[in-house]
Amino acid sequence: MLEVKNLNVSIGDRKILNDFCITVKDGEVAAIMGPNGTGKSTLSYVMSGRPGYTVESGEVLLNGVNLLDFEPNERAAKGLFLAFQYPLEIPGVATMTFLKAALNAQRKYRGETELSTPELMKRVNAAASKLGIKSDMMKRALNVGFSGGEKKRMDILQMALLEPSFGILDETDSGLDIDALRIVSEGVNALRSPTRGFLVITHYQRLLDYIVPDTVHVMAGGRIVRTGGKELALELEKSGYAEYLGEEKAA
Ligand code: ADP
Ligand code: MG
Ligand code: MG
Repeated sequence: MLEVKNLNVSIGDRKILNDFCITVKDGEVAAIMGPNGTGKSTLSYVMSGRPGYTVESGEVLLNGVNLLDFEPNERAAKGLFLAFQYPLEIPGVATMTFLKAALNAQRKYRGETELSTPELMKRVNAAASKLGIKSDMMKRALNVGFSGGEKKRMDILQMALLEPSFGILDETDSGLDIDALRIVSEGVNALRSPTRGFLVITHYQRLLDYIVPDTVHVMAGGRIVRTGGKELALELEKSGYAEYLGEEKAA
């Protein structure tokens, strides 16, 4: 279970998250929707431990452990996964090499034995074929020259291999055509399980036709201003965020 409690975050002297709170139970998919610039990406970056943010107060509890007390790699090893809005390009490192390093770093942290190269390749190839990723992509440098859709699939592949207890998808739908959106969503849905939660951040309702959320939260002014079921996403698609913009000014 994920519990974010009274999280206050600023960038420089600008307050971005205002007493932000959310609870996502095991097995649930929570969606966060909201206008541009309201702090959705800030929330995911702060959770994953990216530098540059000042956490003034609050906690991010994953299964009762405050992730804010740990380094980014430790947070990942404890089961947090962030699918990037803009996936990282790593020139000079073959994708397979990167995946092996990521997986074995996590296993080492958990006191598990390293995976052999044949075992790793077996796992990677099985997961990749489900996501429609061609095996020759594994020899290419990670994300370098990949199309938008290929990068997103690679992100979901990493998530499938790392088997996190909590996954955050930040605008995973941006730049995807309808076929890629379906494949990526099926990849996420295949990872849904009673012991795994997800936070799906999106501007658009469309993604939520494919990854059907248990709850939908509206974020404005750096906090959740409304919570409902999946029908709330449809309502927002019609009404837009205008009625919440007062929250932006108040923040
Ligand atoms: P969202 O993902 O909801 O569109 P962000 O979390 O990306 O919003 O941004 C929240 C606010 O923080 C925006 O006003 C944005 O301009 C500001 N912001 C984000 N990153 C930085 C930064 N590195 N320096 C200064 N301001 C930033
Ligand atoms: Mg944005
Ligand atoms: Mg964003």
